[in-house]
Amino acid sequence: SPVIVWFRRDLRLSDQAALAEASAQGPVIPVYVMDDETPRHRRMGGASRWWLHRSLESLDAALREKGSRLILRRGVSAQVLAELAEETGAQEVHALHHYEPWWRNAEKALAAKLTLCLHHGNYLAPPGSVTTGAGNPYKIYTPFWRALNERMPPPEPTPRPHTITAPAQWPRSDALADWKLLPSRPDWAGGMRAMWQPGEAGAAKCLRAFADAASRYEARRNLPSDDGTSFLSPHLHFGEISPARVWHAVADAGGSVGTFLGELGWRDYAQNVILQFPDYGGKSAKEGFDAFAWRSGKAAAADMAAWQQGRTGYPIVDAGMRQLWHTGWMHNRVRMIAASFLIKHLLIDWREGERWFWDTLVDADYASNAVNWQWSAGSGVDAQMFVRIMAPLSQSEKFDAADYIRQWVPELAGLSDADIHDPSPGRRPKDYPVPLIDHKAARERALAAWSDHRG
Ligand code: FAD
Repeated sequence: SPVIVWFRRDLRLSDQAALAEASAQGPVIPVYVMDDETPRHRRMGGASRWWLHRSLESLDAALREKGSRLILRRGVSAQVLAELAEETGAQEVHALHHYEPWWRNAEKALAAKLTLCLHHGNYLAPPGSVTTGAGNPYKIYTPFWRALNERMPPPEPTPRPHTITAPAQWPRSDALADWKLLPSRPDWAGGMRAMWQPGEAGAAKCLRAFADAASRYEARRNLPSDDGTSFLSPHLHFGEISPARVWHAVADAGGSVGTFLGELGWRDYAQNVILQFPDYGGKSAKEGFDAFAWRSGKAAAADMAAWQQGRTGYPIVDAGMRQLWHTGWMHNRVRMIAASFLIKHLLIDWREGERWFWDTLVDADYASNAVNWQWSAGSGVDAQMFVRIMAPLSQSEKFDAADYIRQWVPELAGLSDADIHDPSPGRRPKDYPVPLIDHKAARERALAAWSDHRG
C-alpha cells in the first residue's frame, strides 16, 4: 500500500528524511494540507501565503520530474489526512517534526488515528535534545549555543531520492489557484516577485551566492546598505533548504563564518524556547509584563498606522518598514530598531508589532518572530532590559544607513550623508513627516512608564 508524505514547512526533495524513508518503502503520495481550520491554528499571514503558493508550485514541478506529483487538500489536517489514508489504503504517514503548538496538536490528533512516523532534519539538532548537564532545557541563548555547537557538525545532508514511485491511482487534488493565496486587488506582491525565487532551486541559488561572502559576514551583517547577509530566512522557514545543507556549504569558509553559524543557532534556539513556552507568540514570559500600561485609543492607533506605513519621521525606521512592505523582508539590524521604536518610543504592546510582522514577512516564523520581539521588549526569558532604549538616529549613523534610506525613502534621497539620518526642520522635504515624538521626550516617557509599572 502507498505511504503518505505530509509536507509542511519542509518543501524540498533533498535532505528530507520523511520523503527519503517513504520512497524507500514503496509508492508515495506527497500531500500538502492547507489548514486554516484546526482550533488555535495560527492562520498564515499574507506575505507567507504568497510565498507558499510559489513554493508549492515549485515542489510540484520537482516531484513531476520524478514521475510523482503533489496532492493538495484543505481542512483540519488530522481529519484530512485520515480521510486520504482511508481513500488510498495508505497505512502510514511520514512527516518531519514541527514545533509550533498547533502542529504538535495536529500530530497528536493524527497519531491517534493512524501510524505517524516523524523524522528530524529541519534544525541543526532536534529541538529539545540540547540540554544542560542536569538534563534541563536551556532558557538563555549563549549557553544553548555553546552546547549545540559542541554537537556540530550536523549530519551530512542526503540527496533527493533516486525514484519516487507513483501510486496505482492518484487521489483527487485541489487546484492551487482555488486556494487564492496570491493577492489580486490590489496586487501588493510586485516587489516580492522581483526579489525572490521561492522553492528549492531558488534556495540553492541563494546559498551559492552567499557561500563566497560567508567569511566576511561579521563585518557586513549590521550594515543595512550592504547585502552582507544570506537572505536565506524565508527559504529556511519554508524548509526549501535544510540548515544542515547550509552549515556544510559554508562551515569551512573561514573568516567570521562562525558568527553566521551562531545566527543559525538562534533559529534552533527559538524552537527550543517555544517547545518550553508554546504561548510565547502571545504572552510575555516575564510575570506581570503584559499588564504594562501600553498606549491604546485613537492616538496610539494613528501612531501604529504611521509605523506600519513607514511614516514615523524617523528615516531608519521608515526605510525598514517600507522595505518590509515592499519586499516582505527587513534587515535584521533595522528589525531591532523598528521593534524597539514601536515598543519604547510609541509605547505600543510588542504583540501588535509581532502580528504586523507575522502578516508582512515572507520569513514570518512563529518561534523566531516571538523570540525576537520578546527580546526587544525585554519580556522574554532571554531579553535585553526594557530600559535599554535604542536611539534610532545614532544607530542609523553608526551602521551607515544613508544609502539604505535613500533606497527606501526616496523623499530623502537628495539629502547629504550628514543630514539624512535626522533631517533638521529646515532641510526636511515637505512630503516627509515630522517625527511622531522627539527622541528625548520618548525616552523619558518610556522610563517613567516603566518606573510606574515597577511601582
Ligand atoms: P542571516 O544573517 O544570513 O542569518 C542566517 C539565518 O539565521 C537566517 O536566515 C535565519 O534563519 C537565522 N537567523 C538569523 N538571525 C536570527 C535571529 N535573530 N533569530 C532567529 N533566527 C535567526 N527571523 C525569521 O526567520 N523569522 C521571523 O519571523 C523573524 N522575526 C524577527 C522579528 C524581530 C523583531 C527581529 C529583531 C528579528 C526577527 N528575525 C526573524 C530574525 C532575523 O532578523 C532574520 O532571521 C534575518 O534578518 C533574516 O535574514 P538573513 O536570512 O539574511 O539572515
